[in-house]
Amino acid sequence: MKAEEASKEAVEHASEEADEQDEGELLKKDAFEELKKLASASFNGTSNQKVEEAEPLKRPTQVTNAVKHRGFVSYEREGVHYRDPNVRMNDWKEVMEESEPGPLLKTQSARCMDCGTPFCHQENSGCPLGNKIPEFNELVYQNRWREALDRLLETNNFPEFTGRVCPAPCEGSCVLGIIENPVSIKSIECAIIDKAFEEGWMVPRPPLKRTGKRVAIVGSGPAGLAAADQLNRMGHTVTVYERADRIGGLMMYGVPNMKADKVDVVQRRVNLMAQEGVNFVVNASVGTDPLYSLDRLREENDSVVLAVGATKPRDLSVPGRELSGVHFAMEFLHANTKSLLDSNLQDGNYISAKGKKVVVIGGGDTGTDCIGTSIRHGCSSIVNLELLPEPPRTRAPGNPWPQWPRIFRVDYGHQEAATKFGKDPRSYEVLTKRFIGDENGVVKGLEIVRLQWEKDASGKLQRKEVEGSEEIIEADLVLLAMGFLGPEPTAAEKLGLEQDNRSNIKADYGRFSTNVDGVFAAGDCRRGQSLVVWAISEGRQAAAQVDKYLTREEKDLEVSPVIKEDLIKRHHDLNKRHQDSSKHTVMT
Ligand SMILES: Cc1cc2nc3c(=O)[nH]c(=O)nc-3n(C[C@H](O)[C@H](O)[C@H](O)COP(=O)(O)OP(=O)(O)OC[C@H]3O[C@@H](n4cnc5c(N)ncnc54)[C@H](O)[C@@H]3O)c2cc1C
Ligand code: SF4
Repeated sequence: MKAEEASKEAVEHASEEADEQDEGELLKKDAFEELKKLASASFNGTSNQKVEEAEPLKRPTQVTNAVKHRGFVSYEREGVHYRDPNVRMNDWKEVMEESEPGPLLKTQSARCMDCGTPFCHQENSGCPLGNKIPEFNELVYQNRWREALDRLLETNNFPEFTGRVCPAPCEGSCVLGIIENPVSIKSIECAIIDKAFEEGWMVPRPPLKRTGKRVAIVGSGPAGLAAADQLNRMGHTVTVYERADRIGGLMMYGVPNMKADKVDVVQRRVNLMAQEGVNFVVNASVGTDPLYSLDRLREENDSVVLAVGATKPRDLSVPGRELSGVHFAMEFLHANTKSLLDSNLQDGNYISAKGKKVVVIGGGDTGTDCIGTSIRHGCSSIVNLELLPEPPRTRAPGNPWPQWPRIFRVDYGHQEAATKFGKDPRSYEVLTKRFIGDENGVVKGLEIVRLQWEKDASGKLQRKEVEGSEEIIEADLVLLAMGFLGPEPTAAEKLGLEQDNRSNIKADYGRFSTNVDGVFAAGDCRRGQSLVVWAISEGRQAAAQVDKYLTREEKDLEVSPVIKEDLIKRHHDLNKRHQDSSKHTVMT
């Protein structure tokens, strides 16, 4: 107790000292002039606006007793750490180092300004889940991890997924990011949930009673899982059907093990949900396997949620596409993870890049994951071709805060390739003209041409081939990672579902209902290829709509006096909580 008081006193003392020092410095300067200098630097493009690569200032990233008051002035950002590329490229373990509770995270959470208008948690620019970021930052700062967990779980079903794989739009829109490096929200989020599992706080919490309503969910990616989790909590009986042999969608068979561990992270969550009462059926290809026809699912359930993902890959229809050794990225990544999990790659049931010259066409997460996987196989070289120009190092004028910064980034795979082969594998503004094969029909190279992008009269970027820039590059393995073109058509055709002009299942955002009664759609199959965090968000929102649909008849019935009384009490409680929370962001 004494130690606690002493520590509190030390913090207060340090805070007072920081105040005095700041005030002293301000007296010496004209604050308005300082602001003007900042604004003018920003106008000239020389400001400290770089989100990823701001000039390192001489400020500590961690101190023993961080002071929150003006923490953003006193401390510098330190985000997630990756393991040494020389070491990690030889194994399949997670690349990210665990962020543990301690001085670093306390200091980092002290950088949060607890903004009056926290852009980080707003769906349209920041976190699609509306995570209560300033609140859990404050709780972590106060070492109240259990309460931080409660705050986090209010809005996010699977923080251990987003804490690992999310590109963190919240950080892109953090108010501090206007003039500084943003708060390292992602490492704080991940540390909260990892600690929760380690402490044994994540125990099964099955619903206290069942409603008797049944829901079938097709597809077990983050959208399907989030919908299942929510609906199960509401007491509905939920069955998730997955055509693969393991649950998790792209979190299991797309995102490789080094980004999110399949057993310790993905399967751990699936097991928890199973203990809470969610039923999982694997190897169930709904719509194609007669055992799992959509008609049967509709007959046996009160509602159906389609969360089948956007799994139709974009192809490259150039001469030589049929050659052996040219594969879609997902054929490569899926088989690799399955073989890794089944036999630690001993069964040989995967496409090996060992000793091969690999060319990955297309960037994004999928391209990076192909690079990281090829390197772990032991490829002899790797090239990543990109059609578009290299992104700028800092925000372009048309990409201001709080938008997601579309800037050049070095992901784990690029870093590993640079470590192994001495340079970044990416080559921009390149178009593949044809694949070249040997006498056995096996790919041995590509003909490429350089491009120039120019704006036409309407301001639209148009590509032009650079004359005489054609060249042949060698390749034994080509991986196509050029994005996805919406869901496969089976479900839409079988159910007579309307599709939008990008072939996604048509279901308005916010309502998530399709044109077929009782059938809902969420995640990538509805919005097109996106992010895990959006899939979770859509799964949650769709679940709320399904619940409304399932309980609509009961709500229409006369409300009994007992329920009425209970409703009035809950309404009062809610109102009070709302008033309290608008007074203090974090209730202490
Ligand atoms: C290689 C790769 C890496 C990625 N990395 C990241 C990343 O780092 N960060 C990030 O935020 N996002 C990443 N993404 C995107 C992210 O994984 C997706 O946006 C997200 O998983 C979409 O979730 P979902 O639930 O809508 O669909 P999915 O995860 O695609 O799940 C759909 C599931 O439905 C199943 N299914 C389809 N049809 C049927 C059927 N008829 N019957 C039964 N089951 C069916 C599929 O087998 C699949 O398991 C990545 C995507 C890829 C391809
Ligand atoms: S925008 Fe940044 S500084 Fe403001 S509350 Fe959110 S995390 Fe904290």
